[in-house]
Amino acid sequence: MLDFYHQYDELLSEEERRHVEATREFCTGVFAESVLASHVAGEAFPAKWIAAWAATGWLGLQAKPAHGGFGASYLCKIRVAQEMARHSFATAFCLNHHQGGVTRLSQTGTPAQIEQLLTPALRGELLLTTAMSEPGGGSDVAALTTTATPIAGGWSLNGTKAWLTNGMMVGGLIVLARVQDAGGGGGDIASFYVPLGEAATVRRQEIVVPGARSFRLAEIAFADHFVPEWGLIASPGTALKASMASVNAARVHVAAMCVATLHAALCEAVAYCEDRHAFGKPLVAHQGLRWELAEVSVRLEAANALVFRAAEQVQIGGNPVGLAAQAKKFAVDAAIWGIDQCVRIIGATGASAAHRLNMHLAEVRMAAYADGTNEMLLDRIGRGLPSDYRD
Ligand SMILES: Cc1cc2nc3c(=O)[nH]c(=O)nc-3n(C[C@H](O)[C@H](O)[C@H](O)COP(=O)(O)OP(=O)(O)OC[C@H]3O[C@@H](n4cnc5c(N)ncnc54)[C@H](O)[C@@H]3O)c2cc1C
Repeated sequence: MLDFYHQYDELLSEEERRHVEATREFCTGVFAESVLASHVAGEAFPAKWIAAWAATGWLGLQAKPAHGGFGASYLCKIRVAQEMARHSFATAFCLNHHQGGVTRLSQTGTPAQIEQLLTPALRGELLLTTAMSEPGGGSDVAALTTTATPIAGGWSLNGTKAWLTNGMMVGGLIVLARVQDAGGGGGDIASFYVPLGEAATVRRQEIVVPGARSFRLAEIAFADHFVPEWGLIASPGTALKASMASVNAARVHVAAMCVATLHAALCEAVAYCEDRHAFGKPLVAHQGLRWELAEVSVRLEAANALVFRAAEQVQIGGNPVGLAAQAKKFAVDAAIWGIDQCVRIIGATGASAAHRLNMHLAEVRMAAYADGTNEMLLDRIGRGLPSDYRD
């Protein structure tokens, strides 16, 4: 039988396939056991793994080779994330967030930004994440209220960002803020690299999500926090469009990770049901139970096919707006439903916090919010119907 991921892997270069293979080896064994142990203890995965990822070069997977990156393709990045998501969705999500910051820095950063941030970011000593959402809302990004007021040598930042991935350990943020005009009025939205350091002008608080602390979600508040002039990424009025430019790729990426986690969960449930016996035969030999697992496999394969179609479009620079939204909506729903089925199907064992399926379920549930909620995705798909579905 063909490997579940063969469609992707056939399109990778030899070197990219080696990255995927290395990730598979890395994630199996000690890493997998370590993230599960943290989950059982109600803690985030150990931060030491980030240095190990840096040593393999994954933090700069898509950074330019001239900067010490691999310059890998989008499909390669997806496959690396999938290999990690088979063992822990949350760690793959955290890796992806930082990679996104590094890629952006390498590909579009100014010389000053690259000089200040890139080396520590590639080493994993300075983690980056994008800060758009606020306590007042995340879907309606254009309504954000954080302000950047021009001052000598830079800007003064005020406001609060919420639900930041890796938020408890990031050293820098890509912040979207409204640049106040001379009269103090709220102006257009710009984006900035914001070094955090140990400044007293930054307050950080964990947002505790039971079962999903590995995301290290945090709320970060700024009170007259200084942002240096070199930190400007997108000038007022251009930041929203620049940030949204990568949203399709991000949606498909999350969808691909959901597929990988669901695939791992189904494999685990099938193996368990082959091994465990009831009424004189393996669980999987009972037709009623076998059909339930079969139903999960149907949705998994459908999700995989849709996500691959969307990923191909991102890879070739197509226009996957509708497909990306469909892929994320379908894959997230399939993964949450499918993993929940697997947890239930294997009996009470699945209810134990010590079981990996439980970790998968808690972590995958978080995919429903980031990079577009179901309602926002359906809205996006709906608005594209007249152009996407025309004979
Ligand atoms: C694990 C995780 C990681 C995250 N990482 C980051 C990060 O690193 N950086 C960052 O900036 N943010 C991050 N977020 C925040 C995420 O982007 C937001 O949760 C998301 O944008 C939704 O915003 P909200 O939760 O404030 O919901 P709201 O925007 O308050 O929406 C609440 C509900 O109303 C619905 N709704 C809103 N508008 C409409 C509409 N027009 N029609 C119909 N229904 C509507 C929504 O779908 C949702 O169900 C993360 C969230 C999670 C859970």
